[in-house]
Amino acid sequence: MKFDFKDSPVIRELGASADNMYRLGWNERNGGNISILLDDEDVLPYIDPTKIIRDLPLAVEFPQFAGRYFVATGTGKYFKNISRNPENCVGLIRISDDGKRSHLLWGFSDGGCYTSEIVMHLGAHKERLAQNPDHRVVMHAHPTNTISMTHIHKWDEIEFTRTLWQMCTECIVIFPEGVGVLPWMVSSSPEIGLASAEKFREYRILIWALHGCTVTGTSLDEAFGLMETVEKGADIFIRIAKNPNRSTGIDSNMLKQVAQAFNLTIKKGYLD
Ligand SMILES: [Zn+2]
Repeated sequence: MKFDFKDSPVIRELGASADNMYRLGWNERNGGNISILLDDEDVLPYIDPTKIIRDLPLAVEFPQFAGRYFVATGTGKYFKNISRNPENCVGLIRISDDGKRSHLLWGFSDGGCYTSEIVMHLGAHKERLAQNPDHRVVMHAHPTNTISMTHIHKWDEIEFTRTLWQMCTECIVIFPEGVGVLPWMVSSSPEIGLASAEKFREYRILIWALHGCTVTGTSLDEAFGLMETVEKGADIFIRIAKNPNRSTGIDSNMLKQVAQAFNLTIKKGYLD
């Protein structure tokens, strides 16, 4: 007899992450989404992959994920409900053998579907996996200070990154490659999904101006840690932005000292 997938470590950790994100105010109403690329051992003790509940459409083909499993949060589902009712709010899918559709194997029990940002998620998984075979998680949220910062800061990747690094010393250590920034675009479209995927070739963190932030990682903890570190930097920026007594922050010379002490590789143009 198979165990119940809702009691699996993956679904438990996903619920715990969703609770944390909701508690921090990052995921109001149905804002935000999470997907996780799974390995066979995460799925097969619980699920018979030949038992397909129904097929779900994919706007873009992903042949490189043929036969791979993902869990993803559902479109319109409230983050505050995920841990209490994962079978309704989350779905387990297997990408079809031709990469054009996905088979729902568990979840979305009220007839629902995965997040409308699924193209962005699968595109991000594809690009991050090419950079790091241990990559597993894509997490999107609406952290308040990060969005606020895009209202008053230039959307230039180098300048946005440098400002975050200048806010607190840990920022450059946690994301030495910087943050990607996309200008405002209509969300949930294949266009923003594909533009985002391009950014994930270079970055683990992507800011969508006036919308939110998407992070990636080898685990839920790692992705969450990136999001909360960006949000911490943005929080400090918002608190001091209009303060006439603000200091120059951590200047380039100090950042270079941190980079040297932590043996960080910093891209050309970010500190000179
Ligand atoms: Zn969003």
